Amino acid sequence: MWPASVSTPPTFLHKPRTASSCLTVAIVGGGFTGATLATQLLRHLPDSSSVVLIEPGEPGRGVAYGTQCPWHLLNVAARDMSAFDDDPEHFLRWARANYDSGVSPESFLPRRVYGQYVSALLVRTAALHPGRFLFKHEEALAVRAAEPGGVVHLRSGDRVVADTIVLATGNFPPSDPDLPGKTASSARYIPFAWSAAALNEVAQNGEILLLGSGLTAIDQILALRAREFRGTVHLLSRHGLLPQPHQSAAPWPAFWNEGSPRTARGLLRCVRQQLDEAHRSGEDWRGVIDSLRPFTQGMWQSLPGVEKRRFLRHLRPYWEIHRHRVAPEIDRLIAYQLRSGQTRVHAGRILRYEESAHGVAVTYGRRRTAEPVRLFVDRVINCTGPETDCRKLNSPLLTQLRQEGLIRPDPLGLGVDVDESGALLNSQGLPSHFLFAIGPPRKGALWETTAVPEIRLQISELAHALKFRVNAGLLAMHDHDLEYAPVHTE
Ligand SMILES: Cc1cc2nc3c(=O)[nH]c(=O)nc-3n(C[C@H](O)[C@H](O)[C@H](O)COP(=O)(O)OP(=O)(O)OC[C@H]3O[C@@H](n4cnc5c(N)ncnc54)[C@H](O)[C@@H]3O)c2cc1C
Repeated sequence: MWPASVSTPPTFLHKPRTASSCLTVAIVGGGFTGATLATQLLRHLPDSSSVVLIEPGEPGRGVAYGTQCPWHLLNVAARDMSAFDDDPEHFLRWARANYDSGVSPESFLPRRVYGQYVSALLVRTAALHPGRFLFKHEEALAVRAAEPGGVVHLRSGDRVVADTIVLATGNFPPSDPDLPGKTASSARYIPFAWSAAALNEVAQNGEILLLGSGLTAIDQILALRAREFRGTVHLLSRHGLLPQPHQSAAPWPAFWNEGSPRTARGLLRCVRQQLDEAHRSGEDWRGVIDSLRPFTQGMWQSLPGVEKRRFLRHLRPYWEIHRHRVAPEIDRLIAYQLRSGQTRVHAGRILRYEESAHGVAVTYGRRRTAEPVRLFVDRVINCTGPETDCRKLNSPLLTQLRQEGLIRPDPLGLGVDVDESGALLNSQGLPSHFLFAIGPPRKGALWETTAVPEIRLQISELAHALKFRVNAGLLAMHDHDLEYAPVHTE
């Protein structure tokens, strides 16, 4: 439960600002990224600064850590899940003190426990900094410039005025895949796997088709089995590839450097050589892939646009399943399902969707042969993963920002366009002085910006950049700021 006292600090709205050290930061989105940024800003900015977190759900959870299914485990080991870049063992210590004293660095804990961790950090930090934190339990619909910063318009009609506004809105929801024959009244099609109703009233012995075979599909299999679903789960994707399992692997020496190839094909060759070498010397391939982690963003940025597109077209599915892996215990469960035939994987392209009162017939052309295969199922759930092209989204906020020219899509349609500090580029390509993005929306610039180890680094960099701006008095201060309260809720 989110304490009401944290959400309505009485002193906050009336605190006077001083030109040298005051800053109000509004964060839109309170999943891991927004909640942890709020925590870091409260810790690092001067006492005169304030933080407003805008989130329609419970802070610290988001899609990933809001699940209550005990089988939904973290896909990163506990040793790498600290919220703080400068304290890598923080989560381990917290989990041992608050969850289970036997947690080891290699444990893969339930994701709901991680949500409790992120939320607890924010509650505790806010309590240590009374009057500096405001939680707005709301959706942001629009952001507009209002010198010296901007104003966030909320669904209730309230507004939040801030010097700096950070978009921490996470992965965009998925778009519908191409399903020829599906109509607006196709009730057996679930467009969003994470919606509360996705698995409601599923026939216990029925057949379910999951579109996609990545981490979202794996989550849905686990959620179905946790509800004692005894029927068959079909997974259908273009390649039919499943995420690989984690396994301990010896560290592999770094091999990418500034002189490495700058083409998708050249990089593939370079990685394959290292994999062969690892194989010959009896080492596991995971060490090679993991050795790339500190360099992945640099590798991505070193590729020209045409090579990035080539990577996305040909190599992306292979990268995803080797880089974003599942906990070993989840892999064992899925392997059992596959052996027993309770879960079946199909590779191909959907040709036809026909829904009737009795079910849905989905016809796909098998990969390589194009031979048509027909599946008859009770429900179809879209597990294709997040949409990345912000032009295709049904989000009032991102649509408004794009239509009013405050943001633009990145050239590859992977997120929003930003400079190296995370400042959003407007429609003319100029960086905003008050509007930043952090986390998954920066995928176009960074490629790997989804998991905690990458995001916590961005959080720490942005927190320190804002601290520097405050300390150096770099904020554009106007005379009237001295009279205005930092946050208006009208
Ligand atoms: C199922 C799943 C499992 C994952 N497991 C792991 C893992 O084990 N380890 C790991 O490192 N990473 C994992 N990830 C990656 C995950 O993306 C990051 O760890 C992290 O959760 C991203 O957090 P976020 O806050 O950026 O995004 P999100 O968690 O998506 O949160 C974004 C928040 O923004 C809010 N929001 C959106 N629009 C608005 C608006 N207009 N107004 C107000 N609020 C808004 C949403 O309500 C949401 O709460 C997983 C991801 C998923 C989807």
